[in-house]
Amino acid sequence: MKKIVISGAAGFLGSHLTKELLNQGHRVVGIDNLSTGKASNLEDVKDNPLFSFIQFDVSEKYIIELPELQGVDEIYHLASPASPKFYQAAPIDTIYVNTIGTQNMLELARRNDAKILYASTSEAYGDPEVHPQPEEYRGNVNTWGPRACYDEAKRLGEVFCYEYHRLYGVRTKVVRIFNTYSAGLRNDDGRVISNFVTQALTGEDITVYGDGSQTRSFCYVDDTLRAFRLMMDSDEATGEIINVGNPTEYSIMDVALMVQSLTGTSSQITFHELPKDDPKVRRPVIDKAKAILGWEPLVALEEGLQRTIEVYRERLVLEKVEAV
Ligand code: UDP
Repeated sequence: MKKIVISGAAGFLGSHLTKELLNQGHRVVGIDNLSTGKASNLEDVKDNPLFSFIQFDVSEKYIIELPELQGVDEIYHLASPASPKFYQAAPIDTIYVNTIGTQNMLELARRNDAKILYASTSEAYGDPEVHPQPEEYRGNVNTWGPRACYDEAKRLGEVFCYEYHRLYGVRTKVVRIFNTYSAGLRNDDGRVISNFVTQALTGEDITVYGDGSQTRSFCYVDDTLRAFRLMMDSDEATGEIINVGNPTEYSIMDVALMVQSLTGTSSQITFHELPKDDPKVRRPVIDKAKAILGWEPLVALEEGLQRTIEVYRERLVLEKVEAV
């Protein structure tokens, strides 16, 4: 049994990971300041004797001293708003959690000789001029725009990991996560899958930004989390950056049409202004993940969407019943 700390434990990825690691019999200490994460995401595990929860901001220096965190074997540093809607609403907090917060988690790892996985992002590539994106690509980030608080903070978080590995030998692993989804996303998350599915199930218009020709590659959460665990276990992944995402690319219009057909909705597709600096394309090269981790995604978008739609549908029915 390992002692594992997860920052951002009440968030989308953090709560899924917490449940999995508890199921495997590990002791998990979850940290979250509940700014975008929800305590209700941890409802199933809150009474599990192997789980404890600390409501705390990882950007606070004192976090390193918390007695509950000492003796940790592995740290997953996932804390950060991730949806453009939320990180743009809290840009300074986003910068802090990914820079100072990352340094705090690295100090905790250093002090305890723990391994640490940092959740970076495909946003590190910005609006890419190289397609698809391998880890060596240095990116095309607008450093003076609405996405910079996230993109640049994540990039600096990566540098902290690089230097803590080089200077102090901390076993850091940086995962660049491409678009990930499942029913665990909040209905009001603002990202495309939760928006389209919620809209289709409630009969609202499906809001395509721009003309829908921009592309993304969507990875189902189970695939993403499997890669996290493989990375944590792999010595070869130490001191490395690895892309984790599904290399099958879709236009946003394709996604809108797929959601329309899978839900059987009568919702219409409507077109809206494209947000500033919205990347035109995004698709990972996953050769490194394949070679080092033996990993590739197993869940195709259509199957993952079907699972997502089912759970959203049940949730909406439940919310309606509760409202009566
Ligand atoms: N998008 C859209 N309609 C929505 C939400 C998002 O057309 O209701 C588009 C958005 O402009 C982007 C893509 O879907 O091109 C993915 O956006 P998301 O916010 O999910 O994540 P991103 O990859 O941009 O961080």
